[in-house]
Amino acid sequence: MAVMSERAPAKINLTLDVLGRRPDGFHDLRTLMQSVSLCDKLTLTGRERPGLGVTSNLSFLPTDRRNLVRAAAAAFFARSGLTPPGLHLHLEKHIPVGSGMGGGSADAAAALRLFNRFFQAGLSHSDLETLAARVGSDVPFCVRGGTQLAEGRGERLTSLPPLPDCHIVLCKPSFSLSTATVFSRVTATRILWHPDHDGALRALREGDLRALSQRLFNVLSSSVPHGQREIADICGTLLDAGALGALMSGSGPTVYGLFSDPDTARAVCETLRACYPETFLARPLAAVSDDDAPAVTR
Ligand code: ATP
Repeated sequence: MAVMSERAPAKINLTLDVLGRRPDGFHDLRTLMQSVSLCDKLTLTGRERPGLGVTSNLSFLPTDRRNLVRAAAAAFFARSGLTPPGLHLHLEKHIPVGSGMGGGSADAAAALRLFNRFFQAGLSHSDLETLAARVGSDVPFCVRGGTQLAEGRGERLTSLPPLPDCHIVLCKPSFSLSTATVFSRVTATRILWHPDHDGALRALREGDLRALSQRLFNVLSSSVPHGQREIADICGTLLDAGALGALMSGSGPTVYGLFSDPDTARAVCETLRACYPETFLARPLAAVSDDDAPAVTR
C-alpha cells in the first residue's frame, strides 16, 4: 500500500501589522512571514475502509472536523472532482499547539500538497493557494513557504528574498493563547506604533540580518490577554544572550530570537529549556520543499 509523507514547517512573523477590520469580521493585515525548520510530519496511506481516518501523536488534539486537515481534504476533493477512497492521515506533531507558529495551518497546507502528489491531481501552486485561502488565513502562506509579505487576510502573497541564514531560538511559554481572543482585543485605530515595513523589506533585499533584526515588530504583542511579563522576560533573556532581535510570533505566546552565532544560540536554547520544555533551535527555510535544510534540534 502506498505511503507518502510531507513535512509541515512552522512559521514566524518577522513583522505583523493590523491595518483595520473588514466587513467580514476578519482583520486586514500586513505581515512578513518566514518558514522555519521546526516541522510536523504528515503521512498518508491507503486503507480498505472508505473515508478519511486522522490520527496524531497528541492525545488532546481533535482529529474530527475541528482539525484543519479535514477542511483541507474537503476543499481538495471538492476542487479535484476525485472521490475520496479509503485513506489514513497521521499527524506527527512537533509544533506546539496554540503557540503562534501556525501548526494547524502548516498541517492543512501540507495535507493539500500531499493529496495533490498522492493522487497526481496536477493542481498548480496557484490552485492550491486558492483552496488554502478557504481553509484559513495563514494556510496560503504555508502552501508557498519561504519568506513572504502577506496582506489582506493573509491570502495576498509577495515572494521576498530569503532571510539571511541564521539560528533561531523558539521558546513557547508555559501557557497557550487563542488567536481569536488576541485579535478580539485589537482596535486598529488605537495602534500608535507600526512596523517599519519599508526598512524591513530593504534589509531583506540587502541581505542585512542585523538591520532586519532591528525592525522586528508585532502590534499584537500589546493585545495578549495575559502572560505579558513571561513574554517580555523571554525576550529579555534572548537579547541579553546576544540575539540580534527578539519578538513574539503571530498571536503568541511563542517568542523567538535571531542569532548569527550558532554557539550563542545553542547556549541560550539550553538555558531557556530548563524553564520552558518547548524550546527549539531552528533555521530559516527558503522553501517548504527545501530538503537540504537542517533539521530542528531540541
Ligand atoms: P496561528 O499562529 O495560525 O494562529 P497557532 O499556532 O496559534 O496558530 P495552532 O497550533 O494552529 O495555533 O492551533 C490553534 C487551534 O487549532 C487549536 O485549538 C487546535 O485544536 C486547532 N487545530 C486544528 N487543527 C490543528 C492541527 N492540525 N494542529 C494543531 N492545532 C489544530
